[in-house]
Amino acid sequence: MTDPPSNIRAHQAEQLLEVEWTDSRVHRLPYRTIRSQCPCAACRDEWTGERILDPASIRPDLKLMGMENVGTYAVKLAWNDGHSSGLYTWETLRALGESSLPAV
Ligand SMILES: [Zn+2]
Repeated sequence: MTDPPSNIRAHQAEQLLEVEWTDSRVHRLPYRTIRSQCPCAACRDEWTGERILDPASIRPDLKLMGMENVGTYAVKLAWNDGHSSGLYTWETLRALGESSLPAV
């Protein structure tokens, strides 16, 4: 289990989500990366894990419209493209921060 972050802050102008963990590591995740890795069934095939969402279709002026805690294990992010079904577990956020995923 990944401990919940101690703080999550959205930087709208820079399009970054800053996630601070209890072990004092800080990850600055570009909105675009987070959005392109949306784990919901509409963006990712549940069975194969293959990405359905085309990163090229992500609007450049992406903004975060809302954050909602889901239990103690995840956060639900709502975007200004009308998409709000992405449930990001702490594991997912942490993995996004630690991985060297290519920019999209
Ligand atoms: Zn999605």
